[in-house]
Amino acid sequence: MNSLKRFLVVATMSAGLLTQAAIVPTTIMKPVMAAAPATTQAAAQAPQTKGKLIFIDPGHGSSDVGAVHETNGKVDLTERDVNLDVANRLARMLREAGYDVQMSRDDASALVPGQEAADLQARVDKANKANADLLISVHNNGLDNKATRGTEVWYCSDRPFDARNETLAKATQKALVSNLREAGYNTLDRGIKDDKIMGHFAVNGPNLARPSKMPSITGEPLFITNDQDAAQLAKPEIREAIARGYFQGIQEFYSNAKS
Ligand SMILES: [Zn+2]
Repeated sequence: MNSLKRFLVVATMSAGLLTQAAIVPTTIMKPVMAAAPATTQAAAQAPQTKGKLIFIDPGHGSSDVGAVHETNGKVDLTERDVNLDVANRLARMLREAGYDVQMSRDDASALVPGQEAADLQARVDKANKANADLLISVHNNGLDNKATRGTEVWYCSDRPFDARNETLAKATQKALVSNLREAGYNTLDRGIKDDKIMGHFAVNGPNLARPSKMPSITGEPLFITNDQDAAQLAKPEIREAIARGYFQGIQEFYSNAKS
């Protein structure tokens, strides 16, 4: 999860989740139907990838390991490492499709070790300096309530390019959920989330002194703190499915948006 928003997430979401759980005690997930009729798909233009620079930010690094999964009190999975693996897979897919790719980090280190706020700002600055077309911040979720699981994507509606942020978030959410389900994991679809309600803590929020200059999302594909989700996150094929979800979200964005 986005480290800066963790406190508020825990503080504000747990109350909401109790309400949700009371209303919807169990959710029977329906299989995902085909996205569009064949005629629409055939008419869709293949996205123009050449010259598009996608900046991928694998969340956390160094001593900031992000949210973690523990077994018998021992950490056995960290966001820092899972996020980097997913990001590397996504970078490979994007490059194969013709996109240019830059990463905020390509090893376990942070940009500004030990200073989480400065580290987050450094990632956004790096994307801005690169003049990237999209900023994709790759995270996984975490809560003290370890029963919470599922897939969500965050965006910010309070930006000059808010509609494009939302389009990217919707496309990515849909593709993450469908790819996880096709890979055999029936994830809970928690929908897209607007950063405004959380005080703009994601990578594109005004709580940063210098927000991103390009459309941006923070992906939270699974809850690493939940046993069921974490068991999936440990699997290479699930990380591949998550990377494919991000990839297809980006492809869909460029297929339908005038970008
Ligand atoms: Zn995170």
